[in-house]
Amino acid sequence: MAPTASAAHPDLRQAVIDTCLAMNASGLNQGTSGNVSVRVGDGYLITPSGVAYAAMTPDQIVTMAPDGSHSGNWVPSSEWRMHHDIYAAHPQAGAVVHVHSTHATAVSCLRRDIPPFHYMIAVAGGATLRCADYATFGTQALSDHMLAALAGRSACLLANHGQICFGPTLEKALWLAGEVEALCHQYTVACQTGTPVILSEAEMAEVIERFATYGKQPERKPISD
Ligand code: 13P
Ligand code: ZN
Repeated sequence: MAPTASAAHPDLRQAVIDTCLAMNASGLNQGTSGNVSVRVGDGYLITPSGVAYAAMTPDQIVTMAPDGSHSGNWVPSSEWRMHHDIYAAHPQAGAVVHVHSTHATAVSCLRRDIPPFHYMIAVAGGATLRCADYATFGTQALSDHMLAALAGRSACLLANHGQICFGPTLEKALWLAGEVEALCHQYTVACQTGTPVILSEAEMAEVIERFATYGKQPERKPISD
């Protein structure tokens, strides 16, 4: 007999909870802010809305269908539209992490794209980290603005709100959220200290080219070899 929707994929359900616990424990998020999802088949699993992560149990993780409907007794994150739209528009997205990390949120309140003040800005896929236009949380308008800001990128800021990232796995999406937060922290300190020098288009083109091969280690051979 097939498992019920709220019992299928127990490991992935627990991995979603573990990601939420890690994002709060690391200081990347606080309270019940933020949300996490992972792609499964043609749908995805997402955190329930407004449930404290420390008390979250695998059966509360909500199963979402490609048409936006959900099964089970738990209401999905109010931001399910952003997760839905990322999976539909970015086939390489395997997981999505949205957090209200302090420095990313502070910069999002300036409603400003972050320029290439540091070469690591390319970690999200391009020479800038865009800030999506403002819309009320949980709305399709917010998701539409987010998708525009994510063109050619795997992360963006959400005006007066926070940041959202995706990656091939939960681990990589959470890692990227940490990178975005570090960049926003560095940018705020640089702006408080003076006027950061912005890297040129040519300098960033070189960084983006190098990123294509950076960190690609050869396959490890078994110790017995
Ligand atoms: P949810 O608890 O509904 O996921 O909302 C948190 C949030 O960050 C809204 O933007
Ligand atoms: Zn939010």
